[in-house]
This record gives sequence, structure tokens and C-alpha cells, in this order.
Amino acid sequence: MYVRRLTLSLLLAPALVTASYPQSSHVDPWAPTELNNLPPVASLTDGTWLKGDLHVHSSHSKESSNNSVAKIISYSESVGMGYACITDHDNHVLGDVAHNTWTDPDFKSQKLILLYCAEWTTTRGHGNTISAVPYDHQRFYYVRDQRDVVVGAVKKELGIHLSANHPSGKDHFGYSYDMVDSIEVWNSSIWPKNANAIMIWDDMLSSGRKLTGRGGSDAHHGAAPTPEQATKNTPQAAWNYIGTPTTWIFVKDKTRQGVIDALNSGRVSVSANPYAPRVEFYADTDGNGQMDMMMGDNVKATGKPVKFSVRLTGNIAPDGVYTAHVIKNGNKYKDIQITGKSGNAGFEDAPPQIERTYYRVEVEGPSTPYPQVPKSTEGSGSMVGLSNPLYFNFNPNF
Ligand SMILES: [Zn+2]
Ligand SMILES: [Zn+2]
Repeated sequence: MYVRRLTLSLLLAPALVTASYPQSSHVDPWAPTELNNLPPVASLTDGTWLKGDLHVHSSHSKESSNNSVAKIISYSESVGMGYACITDHDNHVLGDVAHNTWTDPDFKSQKLILLYCAEWTTTRGHGNTISAVPYDHQRFYYVRDQRDVVVGAVKKELGIHLSANHPSGKDHFGYSYDMVDSIEVWNSSIWPKNANAIMIWDDMLSSGRKLTGRGGSDAHHGAAPTPEQATKNTPQAAWNYIGTPTTWIFVKDKTRQGVIDALNSGRVSVSANPYAPRVEFYADTDGNGQMDMMMGDNVKATGKPVKFSVRLTGNIAPDGVYTAHVIKNGNKYKDIQITGKSGNAGFEDAPPQIERTYYRVEVEGPSTPYPQVPKSTEGSGSMVGLSNPLYFNFNPNF
């Protein structure tokens, strides 16, 4: 009690003093103001949802087992993926992913859009690099210990997408998020361990950074073809493998660049596995009964009420009841129920005309079996999927 009273008196003391130091008349140059017209929202229907895994290790990563490039590609095709992004540790080949993963004779597919990717594996943390065309990854490897301004300049020159991996905990992403295009908000099938990643994401969004959230299994180990080929890590394949979680991307063009453009735009949704329902999030901003923006889109708020719609697409449990947790500006806003029968639900709110506002949803409900990775649902539990945000008044020139 004594300590507490002392603390209080210390807290109160400066308050009395500040009366003689009134705030100066300085004007905050960064205070919210009305933005000029924002770029128009792209079509909500002209595109295709493609699914894939944005973080997978092949045998070009030293610690992986039973996971060749050929196996990753054929497996991805077998579960209906539309794209693949093999992210081997660049430090295992001293930066030369271009002459390892990308020139692997099996690095080809008739069905998948194969992106040029690597896991930038550095002393200050891990990030995935993603590109539509081969680029000089060696340069990015060499610059890893330099100041962020140097790293950022090389990243820009190379024209690559940079994504922060498992941003909290071991090998957390220890670089500025100002040079990052997306963040891994759901790493591996074990959803609960991503709480801090979600917190970092919300902090970045709340401070005006329009940053795409994505998933990645970070799978290193495939099932062993014969008992003799099993390793001590082989059991992981039953818990966490390609597609746990699955990242859905709404692409306008089914090309490598089309996938990256859509990833940048934030028209991205993450599901527990390739068979779980996809969470879609839309809004009708002018009250005409038609949805006119989807997740990732950024519009000017009018101050009038907006109708929001959360939809589940795919394998919905018809008798199931789902809960969409709506997060507004980093805080829990409300929960809405979605019945398996309807597959959608809505809510209304009026984002203010001047300040930034964002909304995103996390959906819980019955889990969807993933027979090829049978224990993954124990890790994801009731987590079904999450959306990217709908943005209001975010400055595109930030
Ligand atoms: Zn990593
Ligand atoms: Zn990894």
C-alpha cells in the first residue's frame, strides 16, 4: 500500500507542474486530413481465386527431408493448388538459389504458376522474397547485414516482393516493415502460436501501413516413401504440410506477375487447409445493395453507414455454425454468426469521413478434415480462416 501511494504521488506531481508549460501552437503536419480522390477499385468479379502455399522448403534446404522439388509440385497439383512458392533457405547455398532451387530439373509444372522464391535467412530474421522472373538473389543475400536503407534500396532495384516471416519469436523479422510488402500472419498448422504475429500486423495496419497478411506452412518434411527413408522429423508431415495454412489470392491475370500483383493488392484470404472454406469480405459503401469493394481495397469514407458482408465459400458444414470475429482498427469490434446453411452474414458501421479505419475478420467454426495431413486440424482447431482488411482513408502515398 505504501509503495502504491508513493507511485501515485510521483505520477501526480508532474501533472501539477505541466500547468506552467502549455503546449505550443505547433501544427501536426501528419494529422488526418481529407485525401484527394483514391484510385478506383478494381472489378470484384473479373478474376479467379487461386490457392497455394507461400512458404515451403525443398531438399535444397539442408534440414529438410523427403521433400524434393518434384514432390512439392506433384503434391500441390494433387490438392488443387494454383500456384507454388518454394522458399529454400538462401544461406544453405550461400545465396545462390538461382542455381539450386530455380534450376532444379523438376522445377516445372503444366498446372501450377511457379513463382521464383527464396527464404532470406539472416542474423536479423527471415523473410520470403517472391518474384515473377528470376532475379539476382545473390545481391540480396550479400546485403543482409547492412543498414535497412541499403537493404531497402537493393530490394527496390531488384523489384522483388518481400514478406516478413514468422515475425515474432525465434528468427523474428528484425528489419523495418517499411520495406515489406506482406507479413506471415499464419505460420504452420498451429494457429494459436500466431497471436503475436497478428498483434504486429494490427500495429502496422493501425499506423497506416497497408500490409497484406498471408499464410505459409513452412513445411520442411514430406512423408517417407518407405519406412527406411523415415527420419526423426518425418512425423511432422502428418501435422504440418503443404497447405497448412492455404493462402487464396484473387488474381486478375493467371500469370506469375498476376499472382504478385494480387498479393500486393491484399485481395488475399487465408484458410486452415486447401479444403477449408475461404473467407471473403466485402462492403457496399453507397447503399445500393451491391457490394462495391472487397478485402484489400481502399476507399474514401463518406461518413455514412456502410454494409459489410462476410461470406464463406467452399466446403461449409451445412449444419455448422461459424463465428466471424470482426476486428476494427486493431480492436475486437463485434462477433457475428454465420450459419452453414446461408454461408454469409453482415453488419453495418459508419467509418468516419476523415480518419483511417480498417476492418478485418477471423472466422472460427467446425474444422475441415485434411486427410493427407490428418493431424493438422488438431493444430488449427476451430480456426477456419481469416480475411485481409477493408481499408478506408488509407493514404496510397504513405
Ligand atoms: Zn524461417
Ligand atoms: Zn522457412
